[in-house]
Amino acid sequence: MNHPSSKSQNQEIDRRRTFGIISHPDAGKTTLTEKMLLFGGAIQMAGSVKARKASRHATSDWMAIERERGISVTSSVMKFDYRNFEINLLDTPGHQDFSEDTYRVLTAVDSAVMVIDSVKGVEAQTRKLMAVCRMRNTPILTFVNKLDREGMPPLDILGDIEETLQIECAPLSWPIGMGKRFKGTYNIHRRELTLFTPGRERLPDDSVTIRDLGDPILDEILGRQADELREDVALLEGAANPFDLQDFLKGSQTPVFFGSAVNNFGVRELLDTFVEIAPGPLPRQATTRTVFPGEEPFSGFVFKIQANMDPAHRDRLAFLRVCSGRFQKGMRVRHHRIDKDILIANPIMFMAQDRTAVEEAWPGDIIGIHNHGTIKIGDTFSEKEPLSFTGIPNFAPEHFRRVQLKSPLKSKQLRKGLTQLVEEGAVQLFRPLMGSDLILGAVGILQFDVTMARLKAEYGVDAVYEHVDYVASRWVKCDDPKRLSAFERANQAHLALDAEGNLTFLADGEWRIEFVAEQWPEVVFTKTREHR
Ligand code: GDP
Repeated sequence: MNHPSSKSQNQEIDRRRTFGIISHPDAGKTTLTEKMLLFGGAIQMAGSVKARKASRHATSDWMAIERERGISVTSSVMKFDYRNFEINLLDTPGHQDFSEDTYRVLTAVDSAVMVIDSVKGVEAQTRKLMAVCRMRNTPILTFVNKLDREGMPPLDILGDIEETLQIECAPLSWPIGMGKRFKGTYNIHRRELTLFTPGRERLPDDSVTIRDLGDPILDEILGRQADELREDVALLEGAANPFDLQDFLKGSQTPVFFGSAVNNFGVRELLDTFVEIAPGPLPRQATTRTVFPGEEPFSGFVFKIQANMDPAHRDRLAFLRVCSGRFQKGMRVRHHRIDKDILIANPIMFMAQDRTAVEEAWPGDIIGIHNHGTIKIGDTFSEKEPLSFTGIPNFAPEHFRRVQLKSPLKSKQLRKGLTQLVEEGAVQLFRPLMGSDLILGAVGILQFDVTMARLKAEYGVDAVYEHVDYVASRWVKCDDPKRLSAFERANQAHLALDAEGNLTFLADGEWRIEFVAEQWPEVVFTKTREHR
């Protein structure tokens, strides 16, 4: 059922791009974000995104968490315009605040930009985030950063990406030297040379069109490095994969750019290509059918809930991605999980540095809805038709703690607090089949501090954490009830139920999961679990 949509709706859809940046800490995500916002005119000065990040680096005591949480509400989504495109950049928290949200944000984007540090190559966090992108075959553009430093040879970087991340690389630009000899990049597609000037903030038009690499002007500009470029390009023509839009859109090939974010080099080239090739709002899968952005009725889902830790404003904000139709301020929508119509009062949108009131929003946009405890991660809102979007899962935690109450009288408050915090996606709760422990699981360890601080502040619960030996987990399923009970009997000591009653295997090492999975081939072990 694909409703005909109005011309203006199609125009709004076509000009939206919603993406996230995947990278390992220190590869240059913040710097690149800042340069993009500069190009989009969303900020006037370099340094503003940085300053925010610096204050996030404080240690994770209560005040710092508060500050960090407060701050990241505004940096969660950054909207900016570029060449008449409306771009929604969704923040993927990376340093200490790396968490399940980081993964879940990627379920709400249509494409991603991957930043690789040319000195370090592919790093651990990038591998993890890439695995999440794989789940939906998200198209990825790659930016190899820090070419102003002596890094790995470009071909080795491509090899590293292809091998470690199992994605084909199609270089669209090629660096001329690196470190002190870095002269610029050659755009293979457009046959254009862009020259590098270190430290320049805004880049004037200093690109030179080269129709023929044999042109002696190249020697004039590049000296001895002209021949190196000629050799490289000849080599690439024979060996590199040509760019293929369909392969990119399927997520099996990534176009690669080289540059230096801090020097503002290569960023415009990346953005120009990004708006041209990255997909606009894509159709989304619901349990009953596929929902297309061009359909007239509004629909959307919640992928993140953020608490405001400021005691004066103890509100929670639910981040909703619009999937179809047009959202209008003051709209009544159906909240399908609780089967009620709700009024979305005072929705907000996020600009580079502020929140503003939303008048209307279109597919691809993210709006913030005030939540007083009725909204859970994964909730779907729509106009009439009962819908439930899929693909906003829980991710298997890698860190675990046992919660021990200091006062047993508070166990009711503890349960209530944990239920709420689990619904917000702050942390996951597991109850082992044996015993009466409460085990918390998280993707990033800062979540434990946040959880404890909030239990205390919002629910008056005084508790402590105790060490447990788990470092990995999987949800388990088995179609054969007999085999499942045999499995449960044999592995009782490792099994727990999560907050929604799903059987979970908790392990003291990945090796144990592999070992047990081999012994029980009919049992399926998964790293993600869909919400009900
Ligand atoms: P994030 O942790 O991924 O957000 O990384 P940042 O953007 O904070 O960058 C980490 C460090 O690398 C900072 O000191 C940046 O100034 C530096 N950096 C970013 N881009 C470049 C670049 O192109 N060249 C060099 N030499 N340093 C860079």
